This record gives sequence, structure tokens and C-alpha cells, in this order.
Amino acid sequence: MSDNHYDVIIIGTGAGGGTIAYHLAPSGKRILILERGDYVPREKANWDPQVVNVDAHYSTKESWLDKDGKELHPHTNYYVGGNTKFYGAALFRLRKEDFGELRHHGGISPAWPVSYDDLEPYYTQAENLYQVHGNRGEDPTEPPANTPYPWPAVSHEPRIQQLSDDFARSGLKPFHVPVGIMLDEKNPHKSRCIRCNTCDGFACLVGAKSDSQVVCVDEAIRHSNVTLLTNSLVKRLDTDVSGREVKSVVVERNGVVESYSADVVVVSCGAINSAALLLRSANDKHPRGLANSSDVVGRHYMGHTNSVMMAISKCPNPTIFQKTLGVNDFYFGSKDFEYPMGHISFVGKLDAITLKAGAPAIAPNFTLELMAKHSLDFWLTSEDLPDPSNRVTIGRDGKIVLTYTPNNLEAHERLKSKLKQAMKQTNCTMHGHECHQGLFGRNLYVGQRIPLAGVAHQNGTIRFGHDPKTSVLDPNCKAHDLDNLYVVDGSFFPSSAAVNPALTIMANALRVGDHLMKRLGVSSKDYEQTLRQDRELAVSR
Ligand SMILES: Cc1cc2nc3c(=O)[nH]c(=O)nc-3n(C[C@H](O)[C@H](O)[C@H](O)COP(=O)(O)OP(=O)(O)OC[C@H]3O[C@@H](n4cnc5c(N)ncnc54)[C@H](O)[C@@H]3O)c2cc1C
Ligand code: SF4
Repeated sequence: MSDNHYDVIIIGTGAGGGTIAYHLAPSGKRILILERGDYVPREKANWDPQVVNVDAHYSTKESWLDKDGKELHPHTNYYVGGNTKFYGAALFRLRKEDFGELRHHGGISPAWPVSYDDLEPYYTQAENLYQVHGNRGEDPTEPPANTPYPWPAVSHEPRIQQLSDDFARSGLKPFHVPVGIMLDEKNPHKSRCIRCNTCDGFACLVGAKSDSQVVCVDEAIRHSNVTLLTNSLVKRLDTDVSGREVKSVVVERNGVVESYSADVVVVSCGAINSAALLLRSANDKHPRGLANSSDVVGRHYMGHTNSVMMAISKCPNPTIFQKTLGVNDFYFGSKDFEYPMGHISFVGKLDAITLKAGAPAIAPNFTLELMAKHSLDFWLTSEDLPDPSNRVTIGRDGKIVLTYTPNNLEAHERLKSKLKQAMKQTNCTMHGHECHQGLFGRNLYVGQRIPLAGVAHQNGTIRFGHDPKTSVLDPNCKAHDLDNLYVVDGSFFPSSAAVNPALTIMANALRVGDHLMKRLGVSSKDYEQTLRQDRELAVSR
């Protein structure tokens, strides 16, 4: 066997790729991880809102096209750890019902080929691995879980606690958002996380966010059987003459083209780039793109309908870590609207510098400062439905083309109204009854739907299912059309649900990892022994 042949090649190191690499590492199998990016440089600028949010210093400079051929600068990041380096680490399980068919105002959200119960043990493993902090039993839509969260929930700061109390008094069931940050509130002097105001959207300078580089990739490459090559852009996957096996993975590494092969190839480039990679790998046996006999590759792109809604209330909001409160009372509908609406939570606390990036030029700085001091910065998520016309294709010049028409928008409008109504009903006990009223006028909201370039929650482009005519992957996430090709990033989702996607991608990667260990004949006794040694080593470090 050549030196360039491995048991497993994993392409991409985000939520899917990083997690499966971690899971397979103790198997002793020869594993090659290929990542197009480098490590996020550790520098003070990691936490600088001007550099991160205004200059978009860490985002890719790549440009894509929208359906009208207009340039699109995607808000996405190519680094070891993928987008988890920058995520807000809100780590939710999908609801049990999300795995079945659900009727929405805008149409049908289809069933998954696996059930919640199939994924439940892997959700538990993923929550332990990513050190999720949460309180079970608070969220009224929470699916059943066999164990508590590994860490207690991150506490609300006073302004958020007050809002939570107000919501509860008005009959809602606010809950603590489950988050993957390494905060130890009982032992602050030992806590790796310092609870700062630059978490959501920023890389963690002190390595205290549970991202897939810190938690998974760094651990995986401690094993001598695992090799990570950074700055290694996978350009295409070539098959053998039968078309049933990926025979070589063609990589451009530091400007040089190299080729690698493996018994099993796991693609995990993110839903948009994975679809692009398969489409670019078309050959005689796969004329419409690799694994694309169904013509489904790239279709059903989903990314959630998301809005940031700032409630600029009279009451100031000096919160540092704001992403602690969620409301799911409207997730499946309400008395006056029988369809699912979605999920309400928070983004990281917005500041004047970040606001300036999206503000009209006439807004004076002092207004932005005042707005930032008083705003509650809500994050609203509604499910978008899989539409085959919403898709990733490759333009004539090789660029990614993202064609997307939003759908199910009524649900999102209703969710916004519900939040406004909930804010009206609340009465602040700390500052008086006018607390949640607008600072500049009654109930002033500043809101913005996230544009197409905001591809943070991308999913759905390489869906899994039982039927090779309507799905690309089988329920184990193996391509129907090939024997050794798997996909484990967010592209396997048949529906997008309305909570953040990363924990489901991680849990599924662990599930597929178990399947691959069986396929590769890994002895569970040897695997367990290596795991034990790993744990002992970790304690001694
Ligand atoms: C600002 C921000 C905040 C977010 N907050 C949350 C949150 O709070 N909760 C949540 O659940 N989700 C959140 N998300 C979304 C979450 O980060 C993603 O759902 C998740 O990272 C997707 O995992 P993935 O494995 O599908 O892809 P990614 O994490 O994007 O990983 C893909 C990897 O593949 C690499 N790659 C791409 N193409 C190639 C190629 N051709 N060759 C080699 N390597 C390649 C990329 O560099 C990257 O490392 C957020 C995202 C962003 C951007
Ligand atoms: S809040 Fe904690 S995990 Fe997040 S960036 Fe700050 S120190 Fe890192």
C-alpha cells in the first residue's frame, strides 16, 4: 500500500468532521484529516468587534453568486474547527417531533429516516464531549433525555434574569439555553472561560469555547495513527472505473496538487461546500455530479429564517454574556396559530461598533452607543422548508451559485409578533412598569432578517433517506450510489427544524462513527482500552 493510502480520509474539521475524527481516533486505524484552512491565529484581534464584525477579517474572502448572478460574500469561516470556532455554542437537541413529518403554514417539513430515539444516546455523548451547560426540564418542548446535562446551566445576569421572571409571570416558560462554554461558576478562579462579551461570532482567545478544534481535533491528533494536513483544499473526488468507489482525493496543498486514497472517504465540508465538491466531481459514471443519480445533490438548501430583533427598552442592559435565555412556547404553534413558529433566544450582546456596521450613515455614534446600552438583542429562528429549487450549483466560472427563495415566512412574522406581545405583557419589578417600553418611543424595535450571505445554519443539500430516488445518502449517511463515500456535515438534514443545528451534526457524526467502526472491524475491547489510556493521560496532563 502506498504511503498516501489511509483507512479513512475525513475532509473538513467542523462540527461533523472534527467530531467523527475524535470518535475514530482511538480505533488505531490510519486516518488522514484534510482541512482547507489553517488554525485561527491566536491574537488580541480575536476579541475585537471592529476586526471581527466590521472588517470581517476572519471570514472567507471567497465570493459566490446569488440566483441573479450578483456577487455574494458568504459569512463563513475556513479554519481548523470550521464554523464552530466562531459559533455561539448554543447546543440544542432537535425536538422529538422534528424527526417526524410536521405540517407548517408554508407546507410540509418531512420526516427523517432515523428517529429521535435512535439519536438520543449520541446526543448524550455529544453533550458530554462538548461540555454542554444546561438545566433539563425547563424547556417545555425539550425531548426526553436519559441523563442530566454534564454541567449546570450558565446563570442569567440580572437584566436577563429579570426578563425571565417577567416572561414567567406572564405565563411563558423561559429556560436556560444549553451552551458549550467551559465556564465553572462555582470555581471562578479555576474556570477556563472568563465569561466575556465577545463569544458569539468570535473565536475564543483562551480556548474555552467547546469548538471542534479544541474539543475534538486537538485530541484526535494526539494519536499517532491520525494525521492532519491544513491548507489542504480538496478539489475533487475521482472514482474507479466502476464508479462505485472513490479512488482518489485530489488536494491542492500550499499550491501543489497531491492525491490521497482511502478505504472510506468522509466528506464534511459544510452543506454548501460538500454539495459543491460532489458537483465538481462529475465524471462519465456520474455525469450530474458524484453520487447524484437522484439529481438531489445541492437541492433543498435550508439555512433557517433568522432575525435579530433589538428591543431598545428604557431599562439599560449591562449584560456581558447574553446568550442564556430561550423561549420555545411558540415552537409548535399557539391557540391563535396552529402551525410551528420557531424559537426565541439571544445573540451575544451587541455593541456600538458592531451596530455601526449595519447602521445608516446618518446614525450618530452617541445614538448607537445608547442603543447598545439599552438593547435586548433577540435572535429569532423559524424553520425554512426544503424546496428542490433552493439549491447549490456551480457557475460557469466554477463559482458556487446559491439560489434561494425564502419560504414559510408567515411563521416568522407570527413569531416576531409573539415576542412583541410578550414584551408588552411584562412588568419590570426592578425599574418600574415602563422598563420594557421603548427608550425612544413606545415599544421601539429595530429588526433585521439575516440576508442570504448569512449561511451560518446551512443544511439539507445532501439529504439522507431510504429511497435512492429522493435522497443522496442512506440512513447511515453513506452515498446510495457509492460503496465508500460518507457525508457527515449539516447537509444530511431532510428538514431544518428551528433550533440551532450543531449538536445534531455532532451527535450524528458520533452515530456514523460507530457504524464505520463496525464496518472497519474495530475491536471494541481494543477501542475501550485506548479510551481508558486517553483518559488517564488527560488526567495526568
Ligand atoms: C457566527 C456563527 C454563530 C453560530 N452559532 C451557532 C450556535 O450557537 N449553535 C449552533 O448549533 N450552531 C451555530 N452556528 C452554526 C454552526 O457553526 C454550524 O452548524 C456547524 O459548524 C456546521 O458544521 P459542519 O460540519 O456542517 O460545517 P463547518 O463547521 O462549516 O465545517 C466545514 C469544514 O470544512 C472545511 N472545508 C470546506 N471545504 C473544504 C474543501 N473543499 N477541502 C477541505 N476542507 C474544506 C472548512 O474549512 C471547515 O473547516 C453558528 C455559525 C456561525 C458562523
Ligand atoms: S465567554 Fe468564555 S468561551 Fe466565550 S469567548 Fe469568552 S472566555 Fe471564551
